Amino acid sequence: MSPRCDDCKKTIKPDVILFGDPLPASVYQEATDLVMNCTLLLILGFPLVVHPVAALPGLALKNGAKISSTFSRLPYDRYAHVVVYRPLGEFCQEILDRIENL
Ligand SMILES: [Zn+2]
Repeated sequence: MSPRCDDCKKTIKPDVILFGDPLPASVYQEATDLVMNCTLLLILGFPLVVHPVAALPGLALKNGAKISSTFSRLPYDRYAHVVVYRPLGEFCQEILDRIENL
């Protein structure tokens, strides 16, 4: 049985989208607005298999953004300007190291 709030008796859920839950329209709209106005979209460690989020790189490309991926074999790899097949932790550490050395 799901945990319930002692006061209002509603089911207590974490503030995340669980698999199978719909994405709130306002969240997707905000993501869409950001992607349509970005110049670079980094796809970090996400396999792009869950819709509607999986469509966001296509929107970015359509609006002239460059995309970069760190996950192995994504449908957008052939359109990506940079594809790095490395573990996300290693990739992020290298970026941080390079930024510190600028
Ligand atoms: Zn409550």
